[in-house]
Amino acid sequence: MKVLATRRYPGPAFDELVDVEVRALSELKSPRPDVEALVVANEPVPLDLLPGLRLVANYSVGYDRLGIEELARLGVAVSNTPGVLSAATADLTFALILAARRRIVEGDAYVRSGKWTTDWTEGFLAEELTGSTLGIVGLGRIGQAVARRAQGFELRVLYAQRTPAETALGEYRDLDTLLAQSDIVSIHTPLMPETRGLIDARRLALLRDGACLVNTARGEIVDEAALVAELVSGRLRAGLDVFAHEPNVPAELLQLQNVVVTPHLGSATRQTREAMTRIVVDNILAFERGDALVTPVTV
Ligand code: NAP
Repeated sequence: MKVLATRRYPGPAFDELVDVEVRALSELKSPRPDVEALVVANEPVPLDLLPGLRLVANYSVGYDRLGIEELARLGVAVSNTPGVLSAATADLTFALILAARRRIVEGDAYVRSGKWTTDWTEGFLAEELTGSTLGIVGLGRIGQAVARRAQGFELRVLYAQRTPAETALGEYRDLDTLLAQSDIVSIHTPLMPETRGLIDARRLALLRDGACLVNTARGEIVDEAALVAELVSGRLRAGLDVFAHEPNVPAELLQLQNVVVTPHLGSATRQTREAMTRIVVDNILAFERGDALVTPVTV
């Protein structure tokens, strides 16, 4: 089966693909009817250029940019990479919580600037993490991994999602109540029509003064302009790994001390990225054999 991969995805499993061409989608100038399987990292699939496509093996758990409805309508199978990236993404979430709350990036810049010249550091006082309340929006695979880490930090955990769960990991609240009762809010829902703009200006206004918003899910889940306005006013803090128009980050954010930004690094550990390649290849090999996909995406 002819496979087109938009880059050489990391790890030894990639070498198990026998007939693979590595090429960015932007380099496709004319239709390629020979391509039957496509490996992308949540990129729009150019169906007009790939008329023979039968499988999209998505190198990401989120599949919001693929054009999933059209793929389903055309009978193109889709797989993703759930689970293996939950720990890495939860770790990054906590890194952002700690960095944003404890002013680590500001402190780093201060030391590098040479301004630290006395044995008593003025300023940089932060809010204690222990005993504060973490609100998790979406207690799925990653949300649960964040909740487990929160126990070690002695946080009280609230969660919101469409369906309350039988869980000891946190107390259920409706979303508005969670926003009003949390010191830190971390977003872990997929991007879907129902979650686009879920955290809008009205909901941002429900957050407590000094609260910290962390987003390692998708930028479009938050009204980015409204968030920027709240951050410019200094009322909130934030740790952001994702943005509405990546790789573009609102210029105002880059001037602010109360925001920590990372370039979509949630799954970016060597072990996780290699495990994602393993799942992508396993899905392609299963499809080739005529077996069920290992991690199918269903609409
Ligand atoms: P998951 O296991 O499917 O969990 C999603 C959670 O969101 C569920 O608890 C779900 O519960 C909840 N949810 C869905 N719709 C909701 C709504 N309208 N309001 C409130 N909660 C809602 O997904 P996951 O594996 O944890 O991944 C979550 C997302 O993280 C991915 O889709 C991806 O976009 C993002 N991600 C980002 C990175 C990164 O590099 N930054 C890495 C990995 C993943 P209910 O169905 O009960 O509502």
